[in-house]
Amino acid sequence: MTRENTDRKQVVVVGAGWAGLGSAYHLARQGYAVTLLEAGAYPGGLVAGWQTPQGRAVEAGIHGFWYPYRNIFALTDRLGIQPFTDWTRSAQYSPQGLEVESPLFQAQPYLPTPLGTFLYTDFKRLPLIDRLSALPLLQALIDFDNSDEAWQRYDRITARELFRQYGVSARLYHESFEPMLLVGLFAPGEQCSAAAALGMLYYFILAHQPDFDVRWCRGTTGAQIFRPWTEAIERAGGQILANHRVSDVRVENNRVTAVVCGDEVFEADAVVFAVGISGLKKIVEQSAPLRDRQEFRDSRNLGAIDVLATRLWLDRKVEIPLPSNACFGFHPTTGWTFFDLNALHDEYRDEPGTVVEADYYHANQLLALDDDQVLRQVQRDLAGCIPAFGEAKIVDHAVVRIPQGVTHFAPGSYRYLLPATTSFENLFMAGDWIVTRHGSWSQEKAYVTGLEAANKVISTLGQGQPAEILPVIPDEPHIQVMRSVNRFVRQGLQGLPSFWLP
Ligand SMILES: Cc1cc2nc3c(=O)[nH]c(=O)nc-3n(C[C@H](O)[C@H](O)[C@H](O)COP(=O)(O)OP(=O)(O)OC[C@H]3O[C@@H](n4cnc5c(N)ncnc54)[C@H](O)[C@@H]3O)c2cc1C
Repeated sequence: MTRENTDRKQVVVVGAGWAGLGSAYHLARQGYAVTLLEAGAYPGGLVAGWQTPQGRAVEAGIHGFWYPYRNIFALTDRLGIQPFTDWTRSAQYSPQGLEVESPLFQAQPYLPTPLGTFLYTDFKRLPLIDRLSALPLLQALIDFDNSDEAWQRYDRITARELFRQYGVSARLYHESFEPMLLVGLFAPGEQCSAAAALGMLYYFILAHQPDFDVRWCRGTTGAQIFRPWTEAIERAGGQILANHRVSDVRVENNRVTAVVCGDEVFEADAVVFAVGISGLKKIVEQSAPLRDRQEFRDSRNLGAIDVLATRLWLDRKVEIPLPSNACFGFHPTTGWTFFDLNALHDEYRDEPGTVVEADYYHANQLLALDDDQVLRQVQRDLAGCIPAFGEAKIVDHAVVRIPQGVTHFAPGSYRYLLPATTSFENLFMAGDWIVTRHGSWSQEKAYVTGLEAANKVISTLGQGQPAEILPVIPDEPHIQVMRSVNRFVRQGLQGLPSFWLP
């Protein structure tokens, strides 16, 4: 049994992704004896980076940091690091070629949302009539306010059904909304919750004109952010143990008293589970005290999605007009993106050949391929966007398979997602799939839920100051007015008998 010889309260955090590191860092700074247990060989979770035996830096996919990631930007300021590129523009390709170019929205005259997104995005082919067919969807975006009721209302239908109901044209759906769902929620529209689709689209694109602006790390996120961050956690007294896979917990009087990890047992006054859905399902399978509780058994109703990340070193320079690119129309239910790493990563700036990353989301069928088959597919796809890729020779590569890696916000899944608090007094949850009213998504959400779980620990154990969590940027005034009117109408309708399916 491991217990620190100290008067400090002990907190065990399980999982060293954005969520777990967020909890661990804040709690360590508040004087807790924090032990962070990570199953993998490196901290970072889905964003971890490492070196190949040849010394090449690779990572589990390239990660963008969007304009509204206020808490992550505050963290990097606190750490005193400058890991990011400038804001970048992006493009979209189909097998027909270049389809869309996005400007830097923050550099354009500010217009009330959604006018800026609508007017400044440069669609090369999509007719105006198709773009206009998105307008009625504004009503659903206003109605979806990230409340519990709104999630319940919209979660049981698919995103595809929602867009169909609101009259979005087939072309706009296939060429704009579905690619966004594949990249933002990792699944095609018929497999995404409409609630998740509305929340994600509003947060990343529609809430404010600059929200779609994005920047990247100037190297792997592991090297640029997680290395200095884990050093700061250790300086604050936290202990990070990699290669420690948690399998069970010990419970007394409705409190988790220890976390079991192979032969080791870590005593705890409070515990934060910051593992993804697949990780939690595996722990629940092995843990009788967790299996005893409905909320944890219910995690088996949740799912995750396969992702594939590839990095190619080419023998020559291929001109890639913009550094980040999303692609649609190449695979029926798989989205993919490619990135010019010569432009984004400092270490490749002067490389004689091109270094390009191509990541595939909802990549189930691609995970069955061997590396050579994957590389052939990637090169074919890249050449479908920019023909010069077809001429280049691949001189080195990395293929990273992430089976069941990312959260699947499937229709009907909301009722099984866990909130930060559990039925155990001192066990809290964090991660990008945890229910929060904050309104953020992806890495920012994972980090925010990590801070929220830390704050629950602090209010339960009564030591230290809660973390400051920056709220999402408020709705613009006209959106606030429309939401108030909508709420008023909804309240008026509340007394009526509910005869139809919600
Ligand atoms: C290819 C790809 C591209 C992406 N692109 C973006 C992007 O551009 N922008 C963006 O914001 N987000 C992006 N995401 C999503 C983002 O990576 C996640 O939202 C975020 O990293 C989730 O963090 P987390 O802490 O919730 O979970 P995770 O990162 O999954 O961390 C959970 C950790 O728990 C550990 N764990 C699991 N089980 C156990 C156990 N039993 N014991 C101990 N440890 C355990 C895991 O090893 C893991 O380290 C992308 C994801 C992928 C895969």
